[in-house]
Amino acid sequence: MVSPTFANIDLEALKANYLSVSEFIQRRSSKKLNKVPVNIIAVIKANAYGHGSIAVARALEEAGSFMLACADIEEGVKLRESGVRTPILVFGALSVSDLNGVFTHNLTPTVSSPFAARALQAAAETRNFQLHCHLKIDTGMNRFGFRHDNLHQTIPEVLLSRNLIFDAVYTHFATADQLSNQIFERQQKHFIASIEVLSMLGFQSRFCHAANSASLLRDDQCWFDAVRPGLLLYGVVPPPLIPPPSLRLRPVMSLRSRIVAVKGVRPGEILGYGGQFTAVRPTRVAIVPAGYADGLDVRLAGVGFALVRGCRVPIIGSVCMDSITIDVTELDVSPGDEVVILGTQDDEHIDIVEMAKWIGTVPYEILCRTGIRIERVYKSDNLLSKVKL
Ligand SMILES: *Cc1c(COP(=O)(O)O)cnc(C)c1O
Repeated sequence: MVSPTFANIDLEALKANYLSVSEFIQRRSSKKLNKVPVNIIAVIKANAYGHGSIAVARALEEAGSFMLACADIEEGVKLRESGVRTPILVFGALSVSDLNGVFTHNLTPTVSSPFAARALQAAAETRNFQLHCHLKIDTGMNRFGFRHDNLHQTIPEVLLSRNLIFDAVYTHFATADQLSNQIFERQQKHFIASIEVLSMLGFQSRFCHAANSASLLRDDQCWFDAVRPGLLLYGVVPPPLIPPPSLRLRPVMSLRSRIVAVKGVRPGEILGYGGQFTAVRPTRVAIVPAGYADGLDVRLAGVGFALVRGCRVPIIGSVCMDSITIDVTELDVSPGDEVVILGTQDDEHIDIVEMAKWIGTVPYEILCRTGIRIERVYKSDNLLSKVKL
């Protein structure tokens, strides 16, 4: 059975975006003398930002990805169980998770607190195992990581963890997408200083990384040995950053449905729950079977648009659990006509950055909230399959 509402996931676009980001950073970093190539840690947490982590991980493996990153051990285990073999970095704090998956499924955890270091060391020692991990420094975001300003106190104990091998040191920026915010530069300074302190304390690791999508675009000084884009790989540029012309990206996800009914509403009548909309003229309304249970934001009512027959039409009434209503008064439409909620139809396009602006959120939230009941239809050169993941 095929549901009329589905998310189209273009895996060729995903792979092309990966290669585009890769070429962009190789080109730029090769201009710097003696600079080793910058690797990409592809971020596929939260079900690959709603795109489906297994299909996305496989496509990124095909594209040659160096490392994948997810939020917690459970996400990593799911990827391994589906056959993903690329190294997987787990970002999240480990203190309350079951650590066993790290060992049974060959994941690379982040050590972000003395507590985590102790727990991992104990677990690795019991298993008589040398565990590869990354160390996280909190350079000012005040979330995960060892505080940059008291490494002298915290790191000596970590250094005694004989079963932990630190491959990398990393940090995360809080304000890379706020161009006038100086905290970004301050965090960079703290990170560089932390790397020096770590080295003085005898801490050794092979590489450093820091840049999410916005930092990657904003400043090549923070690329270090690897970058950690998420959003960019899905073809979305974090506003207000603007990509250089040489970095070409295509949106990976589009959201499509079909009109299931068309009806007339008389002047003075309401539409949907709560009477948020009252017709002021004879209005023709089309009902589209996609609602907030599919991830559509309730705030779209009255401010958002959809595409039908290549035209933009307003979303009116209320966003219901299973449906929205659109104003098609100006158009000749019938049940079965395609409706594009996100993506391109003929010459018109609705992009996610625009949609995020309508409702006052970030594109990340919209992608991640693509509902679990929405079918992901994967498009790639060698496969057109419908998979519910
Ligand atoms: C989510 C995340 C990223 C990727 O962020 P984007 O803005 O999507 O590029 C990178 N690093 C960490 C630690 C993250 O949590």
